[in-house]
Amino acid sequence: MNRSKAFKLEPVIGLEVHIELATNSKMFCLCPADHFAKPPNSQVCPTCLGLPGSLPVPNKKAIEWTILVGLALNCKIERFSKFDRKHYFYPDLPKGYQISQYDQPLCSNGLFQLSGSGKKVRIRRIHLEEDTGKMIHTIVKGERVSLLDFNRSGVPLVEIVTEPDFKSSQEAKLFLIQIQRLVRWLGISDGDMEKGSMRLEANVSLSSNGEIPAYKVEIKNINSFKFVEKAIDYEIERQKKIIEGGGELRQETRGFNEKTGITLSQRVKEEAKDYRYFPEPDIPPLVFGEREIEEIRSKLPQLPWQIENLFRDTFRLSIQYSQFLASSKKLADYFIKAVKVASQYNIPPKTVADEIVNKKPDIEKISEQLLVSRIRKRGEKVLISDSRLENIVKKVIFENAKAVNDYRKGKVSAIQYLVGQVVKLSGGKADVRKTHKMLLERLK
Ligand SMILES: [Zn+2]
Repeated sequence: MNRSKAFKLEPVIGLEVHIELATNSKMFCLCPADHFAKPPNSQVCPTCLGLPGSLPVPNKKAIEWTILVGLALNCKIERFSKFDRKHYFYPDLPKGYQISQYDQPLCSNGLFQLSGSGKKVRIRRIHLEEDTGKMIHTIVKGERVSLLDFNRSGVPLVEIVTEPDFKSSQEAKLFLIQIQRLVRWLGISDGDMEKGSMRLEANVSLSSNGEIPAYKVEIKNINSFKFVEKAIDYEIERQKKIIEGGGELRQETRGFNEKTGITLSQRVKEEAKDYRYFPEPDIPPLVFGEREIEEIRSKLPQLPWQIENLFRDTFRLSIQYSQFLASSKKLADYFIKAVKVASQYNIPPKTVADEIVNKKPDIEKISEQLLVSRIRKRGEKVLISDSRLENIVKKVIFENAKAVNDYRKGKVSAIQYLVGQVVKLSGGKADVRKTHKMLLERLK
């Protein structure tokens, strides 16, 4: 008997996505938050270095932006929330604890439907914390050394935690792509995985015969989209082999190695109690009223999936076109404006979409007006010849006796109907003014 058939193993995957916020200043001090490629330790102060006597002051914008993400993902926004200290030792964490949120996060119980698929993902929680410093392992004067850069220490970090609702690495990747689009759309982060402003941890286990697995393996160090599927797929296969071989899996944290394409055990996974969480005594709890939450909600733009629906349902575009044109807010806004300009010349949205999808104009340089005038110029060239137009006009007059009679009886507007028929029969390639003139001459 086939063993894998007997087991019926099914992947159970949950994600933890960290997103660095693009606020001006850090989470609890006034140092600049943009730390990428800055000289080491050039953006630090007593607070983000964790020096004794310094006090954290929360960044209001970072809190608002976290709630904004929560609202976009249909979360419940908690009226009462607080910061907690999460204790652990690592050289890049000078205080010996990270200010995070433990049992009362800002947002919880969300639901996100992946656009372009019926897949629904439950969001367990979204909380706000501070990023750590960075360790750099390098060689100085022939000696292997580890250096510390605290520019990143204290940068606001949003963590989105999903329920284990993914059944494959492809679903996980799709979710990640759409979260990246969302945070860019909201203008709260560049969501760049290569730069580390978006980071991912995946919890992977296998359920046998539909039972909830008793363990969970956390994979760290997935630093690019390219490796999301690879890392998860490798881990699924590794676990499958162990279970099918009669072995047992344990709770652990494994690191993904991009060069070898495999995951290696880092440590047996710690539990919440190991962190000795307790409420941050230097920051009062956060309390929100209905009005404050509604005020943040009013800042929510139309979301990418709503814009996709608009393109599909109102502009009658295909799913592929809608997804492409709503891939960024900049492109979507550009397209909507171009459609508006084009409508003055009776150019349908589809034609504008064709121009953008096929010709891929540089939207930073080509204005919407210029784009539409290009379409019009090209349109003039493809108009049908006068003799073909003459034939279509004859045909339309012949086939629309009622409208012709109406016109001759004095109903002037009937001519518009006839023009419409000619344009339709020509596949939109009839010159409207010429058609009008020809019809008038023949109907005299
Ligand atoms: Zn600072």
